[in-house]
Amino acid sequence: MIAQKIKKEVKPTKTHLKKGDVVRVVSGREKGKEGKILQLSRIKNAVWVERLNLIKKHTKPNPKYPKGGIMEKEGILSISNVMIICQNCERPVRVASKRLTDGKKVRICRRCGEALDKD
Ligand SMILES: [Zn+2]
Repeated sequence: MIAQKIKKEVKPTKTHLKKGDVVRVVSGREKGKEGKILQLSRIKNAVWVERLNLIKKHTKPNPKYPKGGIMEKEGILSISNVMIICQNCERPVRVASKRLTDGKKVRICRRCGEALDKD
């Protein structure tokens, strides 16, 4: 659906980030703020982070919002402007990936080596 609108030469942004990750914004207007990733688009180089970069949106009354009016909605942040927070280091870190002996790939913190994916 999204892909159809994109020109061929646009390459998806490389990222280790995933939906649900807790990230910190390291650049731009929301710098220093933290939140959970709600949605991510590598093709758009975009992430939507819970309660960050809020934009006001005028909404007509609908079944979900019977009154309509001005809604706040998360706006786009650039993937390159957010970093995952390592729960162990308690700070934004760079991510490496590592293949386990069973062939499963996990993301690890480049700083402390702890796994970032808790299953
Ligand atoms: Zn760490």
